[in-house]
Amino acid sequence: MRDSVWITRLLAISLVILAAIVLLLSNKEVSNSNLTANSQSPSEQKVWSPANVQYQSAIKPTIPTPKPNQPTPIPNQSPNNQVAAVTPKPQPTQTNNQKNNQKTNQKNNQVIKPQPLPKTPFTTTATFRSYQPKYTVAWADPSNYGDRFVTDIHGMPLMNPPIIVLHETTNSAQSAVNTFKTNNSADENRQVSYHTLIARNGLVVYLVPPDKRAFGAGNSVFEGAGGIETVQTNLNLKPSVNNFAYHVSLETPPDAWDKNVSSHSGYTDEQYYALAWLIAQSDVPDDRITTHRAVDRSGQRIDPVSFDFDKFFNILHTFRVKNA
Ligand SMILES: [Zn+2]
Repeated sequence: MRDSVWITRLLAISLVILAAIVLLLSNKEVSNSNLTANSQSPSEQKVWSPANVQYQSAIKPTIPTPKPNQPTPIPNQSPNNQVAAVTPKPQPTQTNNQKNNQKTNQKNNQVIKPQPLPKTPFTTTATFRSYQPKYTVAWADPSNYGDRFVTDIHGMPLMNPPIIVLHETTNSAQSAVNTFKTNNSADENRQVSYHTLIARNGLVVYLVPPDKRAFGAGNSVFEGAGGIETVQTNLNLKPSVNNFAYHVSLETPPDAWDKNVSSHSGYTDEQYYALAWLIAQSDVPDDRITTHRAVDRSGQRIDPVSFDFDKFFNILHTFRVKNA
């Protein structure tokens, strides 16, 4: 029973991601060198480039079918749950009667009625819809991220719901983007990425497709309401939260660039709003939004160092509300 619920969830999330990515790519121009903001809102953008087409095929989400020893990507966070509301989804479990009816319908070439949508835990607000940060896409080199696994190294099925892990950059947003664009296939230790980066001016930079496993945290554990969660997918590496994490990084203020400080002047209002806007589109609950500092077990990561959770949650709660 739990399996079928989980598979339905994955299917639903996959469809949302596919719809959102198609929406995103159909409106976006890939920025290859500079972090240039789009002055138009996404709905006004009609720019296409060969890079878009290439990535559109590369990041097409897969619906996982659990096959031991054959890792398949697990989708994670939905970039836009508004799209989901118009996508008909198959029902998780069907009675034999329903299955027979469906067969009969198919035989008779009749239209099958769309099934009811699974309930989502949050709804975005009018305030959310009135706010639109600028954004750009600067895809990381594929050597800096991987697929999400459906089983761990022991062949155990992985069912962790997604978490969101917040970070900050060590230097400017542009410098981080340059790092992620570097092909690091020759050196495993240099492979690093976040899914999304938020610049000081609130510009949202999409780096890694949400259905992929970004390399944002090494040795790490999430301690949630359900206990300890971490996943080992590589015998040579410590377990990590990467397999079920969506990593978002804030551009650090210039006064802390390349300095190992325990606090700094903080993040801009634009960053807090853009971050809340991004997260409001996911179904990840508040208590699964965490920091690199909280999940790190290497003893070396303390970012984001001056993050104001109260301020962030206040904004987030004006952007999304829990469904009754
Ligand atoms: Zn970090």
